[in-house]
Amino acid sequence: MKADFSFLQKNFTVDSYVNRGVTFVRGERCYLIDNNGEYYLDLMTNYGVNIFGHNHPYIIGQIKKQLSKIITLHCSFFNDVRALSAKKVVERCGKGLSKVYFSNSGAEAIESALKFAVLATGKKKFLSCYGSYHGKTLGALSATYNQKYRTPFEPLLWEFSFIPYNDLEALKNLIDETFSAFIVEPIQGESGVNIPNDGYLKEAKRICEQREVLMIVDEIQTGLGRTGSFLASENEIDSYDVICFGKGLAGGLPVGITLVSDKISEKIPKSIHSSTFGGSPLVCSGINATLDLLDNEMLEEIREKGNYFIRKLKEIKSDFILEIRGKGLMLGIEFREKRDLVLKALQRRKILAIPAGENVVRFLPPYIIKKDQIDEAVDVLSDILRSGAF
Ligand code: PLP
Repeated sequence: MKADFSFLQKNFTVDSYVNRGVTFVRGERCYLIDNNGEYYLDLMTNYGVNIFGHNHPYIIGQIKKQLSKIITLHCSFFNDVRALSAKKVVERCGKGLSKVYFSNSGAEAIESALKFAVLATGKKKFLSCYGSYHGKTLGALSATYNQKYRTPFEPLLWEFSFIPYNDLEALKNLIDETFSAFIVEPIQGESGVNIPNDGYLKEAKRICEQREVLMIVDEIQTGLGRTGSFLASENEIDSYDVICFGKGLAGGLPVGITLVSDKISEKIPKSIHSSTFGGSPLVCSGINATLDLLDNEMLEEIREKGNYFIRKLKEIKSDFILEIRGKGLMLGIEFREKRDLVLKALQRRKILAIPAGENVVRFLPPYIIKKDQIDEAVDVLSDILRSGAF
């Protein structure tokens, strides 16, 4: 008898996730394959993790090679693969960032960033934005705006204030030298693919510098090519204090990293912060493989495919659509209503997307997506909206 995995998972795990009702057992390039052998076009990539799709031969090959050498090693020892991956990340980012701290998830990268900011400034006061999402561990949650996630756990950490996103006046009016850091996403992902005005991050950084406040740039969703450049914020920021990465940095293995400038790393004493698994050679082999693939040609491809995807989406004529927005391969369609029904209808037609904010359908496709797969997704969406079959 075939096992009912949906029953087993619901029964034996804390049932705290929305259940999407499909059991996937395999991934193959841009597709997830369910336990009946059905192929689904994966335009969600585990919320932006599988940037090179599933089972990428180069990534799998590099991780497999490392598997038989050494999987895990505490950061109190040196390791060849870890040392090289740190060097690679630092060299790719540049702009004042000189040191890497390894952890295991996006939220952990944020935890580290907050602690490092406190160590560097001696202050525990932070500024974040309405709509921000930085993760759900207690420190990261303190910087996350959504009241639904916060309320049961209040009071949260330290002193966090929130200002409207993309509002420089609000930043100017509130921030002063009593703050440790301003934490910000270059594009807000979870709250609806909200893109700030050109120049917002540049001016925000200038204001922070003027008031001697650090800026923590959360590139966990936007970084690593997602928006068509290595860092989504790189055209606006000449000199970073702190940035965070996670998601697809290690080829699908759990990872978070916090990059800091020398000025900050000098203020971090030994043993104050650590992680048993952080910087494991296995994960670092995934980082090296990912960075090898993420060259300028790939970034150009992301920009080109992203422009194509948006252009095709904008050709859909539907009264349900309020706005289509995005950058690179980070795309959102804001609906007037019935967003969840659209997501379900897409899934029935074997296209996987994710929600964002109140009314947005979000696509975070793999960078290896082909134009005919984009066409297929747009045709299916267009058909669903035209027929009203949702
Ligand atoms: N920051 C941003 C911008 C994110 O999008 C996410 C996750 O979606 C996080 C932080 C938290 O990452 P994780 O879920 O790996 O803890």
